[in-house]
Amino acid sequence: MSRIKLHDNYFKPFITAHRIAETVAAMAQQIKKDLSDDEVPVFVGIMNGSFVFTADFIRVYEGNCEVSFVKLASYEEDRSTGTVKRLFGLDENLEGKTVIILEDIIDTGTTLEEIYEIFRDKKLKQLKIATLFFKPDVFRKGLPIDYIGISIPDKFIVGYGLDYNGLGRNLTNVYQLTTKKMTNIVLFGPPGAGKGTQAEILKKKYNLIHISTGDVFRFNIKNETELGMLAKSYMDNGDLVPDKVTIDMLEAEVDKNPDANGFIFDGFPRTEDQAKALDTFLAKKEEGINGMVALEVPEDLLVERLLERGKTSGRPDDQDEEKIRNRFNEYNTKTAVLQQYYEAQSKYYGVNGVGSIDTVTGRLSEVIDKL
Ligand code: AMP
Repeated sequence: MSRIKLHDNYFKPFITAHRIAETVAAMAQQIKKDLSDDEVPVFVGIMNGSFVFTADFIRVYEGNCEVSFVKLASYEEDRSTGTVKRLFGLDENLEGKTVIILEDIIDTGTTLEEIYEIFRDKKLKQLKIATLFFKPDVFRKGLPIDYIGISIPDKFIVGYGLDYNGLGRNLTNVYQLTTKKMTNIVLFGPPGAGKGTQAEILKKKYNLIHISTGDVFRFNIKNETELGMLAKSYMDNGDLVPDKVTIDMLEAEVDKNPDANGFIFDGFPRTEDQAKALDTFLAKKEEGINGMVALEVPEDLLVERLLERGKTSGRPDDQDEEKIRNRFNEYNTKTAVLQQYYEAQSKYYGVNGVGSIDTVTGRLSEVIDKL
């Protein structure tokens, strides 16, 4: 699941369809248990929001029942207006019957008050209220609610029958309004420029997810996965792993973190095709790359750094000058062109990568703070 856009707002995944189904089933079971065996309740769904809940509920309710709807509207855009209009009501005679209201959500309780009002003079045997979602922090009415599915914080939600200005009722999962767009940074630079070191610091500072494609490959090699086997021969020689493999893997890593504030991409993209794939993939989520921040370090210094790192990193591609030179060759022929790719979008920011770790972090932060 990833975040979605409805009208001009973004919503992040909040409650899965699976959890909702479990909750609805548990509510149906409890309600059935609480009624006498021969009771035939009338379930009344409150339109529009509860049409999905009502439809799912009655199909997991194991017993005879009747179903009806009342249409009320209480929301204007994403704020509760406090005024409830009764749009159409019940025409059947409910005298002596057990009515169980099925609400999608109860927040301030204004709608609930209206419901009690509507049924006050109907001479029911009993009236019970069941709500799938409940916002305890804003409920003001002190009226009884008999069954609560899931209590949630006071944030606007959409999906599973609930809408945002008309949209989103058909979503099977429930999403929560989020104001933020992601911050996505490509941390760029030749092998040994210090991307990994800086990414570790920056991810904490900016609360971002760090994805290093090299690290993911090495993890897979260590665990002897299919992906690891595939990548190993390329990596050991300092060649790039084929685009298709790398792009699929990267997308899977991003999708593992739907709630992220954003990502630091370290070692990706490394080819123009990867950069294009990343743009397309993020655009589908209404997201994009904020900037490419590139660590600029002279090549001689890089070889020195890599050979030094090779003494302790255990990486075969760090230990042999020829393999290191091949990695630079790959970088210069396939990867360096990405500078132009991002420059063309006015998203390239070069940063001097020579200096202490703190100094370089300071320079990077100056750029990132403005993105
Ligand atoms: P790194 O840890 O970033 O230096 O990456 C080590 C090796 O992993 C590279 O030399 C490639 O063989 C492979 N690799 C990492 N990222 C990519 C990528 N975006 N495209 C292709 N190969 C990659």
